[in-house]
Amino acid sequence: MTLSQDISDIAIIGTGPAGLLAGYETNPSLNDSQVDIFTKSSKIGHPEHCSGLISFEGLQRLNVSMPDLKKKIGYNSIRYAKLIAPNNLSFRIDRGTKAMIVLDRPKLDGYFAAKTRKRGCNLHLKCKIHKIGYTKGYWFLLMTNQGKKSVTKSKFLINAEGIHTHLAKSLQLPVPNHKWHFPAFQAVIDGVKDLERDCSELYFGQEFAPGFFGWVIPLNEESARVGVAVGSWTGNNTRKYFYKFLKSHPRLKNRLRKDKIVKTYGGIVPGAGPISRTYHTNYMVIGDAAGQTKATTGGGVNIGGFCGRIAGKYSKKIISNEISSKQGCVDYQKQWRAFFEPNLSLMKFFRRTLSFLPDKDWNKIFQIASTTGLEKNMKVTDIDLHGTGLLNYAFQPKVITKGLKLTPHLLLSYLRGVLPD
Ligand SMILES: Cc1cc2nc3c(=O)[nH]c(=O)nc-3n(C[C@H](O)[C@H](O)[C@H](O)COP(=O)(O)OP(=O)(O)OC[C@H]3O[C@@H](n4cnc5c(N)ncnc54)[C@H](O)[C@@H]3O)c2cc1C
Repeated sequence: MTLSQDISDIAIIGTGPAGLLAGYETNPSLNDSQVDIFTKSSKIGHPEHCSGLISFEGLQRLNVSMPDLKKKIGYNSIRYAKLIAPNNLSFRIDRGTKAMIVLDRPKLDGYFAAKTRKRGCNLHLKCKIHKIGYTKGYWFLLMTNQGKKSVTKSKFLINAEGIHTHLAKSLQLPVPNHKWHFPAFQAVIDGVKDLERDCSELYFGQEFAPGFFGWVIPLNEESARVGVAVGSWTGNNTRKYFYKFLKSHPRLKNRLRKDKIVKTYGGIVPGAGPISRTYHTNYMVIGDAAGQTKATTGGGVNIGGFCGRIAGKYSKKIISNEISSKQGCVDYQKQWRAFFEPNLSLMKFFRRTLSFLPDKDWNKIFQIASTTGLEKNMKVTDIDLHGTGLLNYAFQPKVITKGLKLTPHLLLSYLRGVLPD
């Protein structure tokens, strides 16, 4: 085993949006510091797992310019979200043009990586970190780099390891509750019939996507990402649900063909919501590893990416002795919360309330929503901050009146989710 001679000022574990954008903000080229970013992957953005549906507004918060988006990444604009109930009742939310886009996640991560490298961060591929520990003012990272074991030392550590929080857990630090991680399976499918290029479709209900939802996200006029995510409590059956969704859902069975599947991939959709504490001594945790995601939809690129930027900004201040480490860590947590709370916690509440809801109650929700203007309400809500939007909608007198009978069912569903099995 070799001990690296260099001591990093900041080590970052993970090259997803959170880790890369944290690195970008540390901007080592300005103060001659050493920032090392490690990933076990052999290629940035791989293995691919994400649907790439992202709000345009959120992407701007990550400093992605329109020309770069057009030239270097490419995208399809999504204006509408069509929500489909178990009984097939549906309604559309019109977000106006340029609200959402669907893009290629590996390309987005590659774009962030190029910018981060340009600022002087060192990116280390094929470096799997096995163990981390803190002794005498330094972090020690035990890793395998292309088969060779080594140890790296760092003054400050940012953990952006994603949804599989082995390292945070090994330190006995808080991690998102795995019960609310949703196994997913999706495919890129060509020749999709009746596809509206600017309309994403979300399918709810326990029969086809128990615990979460299924989706059809158009990439162009005839190809789409089609997938389902299901509750972890349903067993190891995600593929089975995916093929059932494809072949048997009344709205899809004549539109999708199995022999037109271009590629398939899986992953775990983050639905746990934020953890209670996102820092420790000379340590911050960001992105999926911190539950900085929308538990309602499982979207984590924009939120985790932006929290990564905040973490990078404060860790840079710490390393250049502008503020104490403790203050910087506390400020990081205060600032990401100021941006995203109470929204993330409200979304977590909605996720926990809805995941166990029987189909008949889903149908009632759709009936109420379609007659009380949910679509108008959501039209003006920030896509990434829709927790408060949903709450305000639910507390309108007309919604309360119509939804009164449903309240015990929602409560029961919530209790089924949060009480121990
Ligand atoms: C099926 C699916 C669809 C999704 N669709 C969307 C969507 O449409 N929109 C959206 O916003 N979000 C979506 N998400 C969620 C989104 O992908 C995540 O929220 C996002 O990737 C989180 O970014 P991150 O940087 O925190 O972690 P990740 O992107 O997961 O990156 C983690 C990094 O850590 C590295 N790593 C982990 N452990 C180690 C280790 N021990 N040693 C070294 N490196 C390590 C990995 O190699 C990787 O580089 C989807 C997720 C899934 C599964």
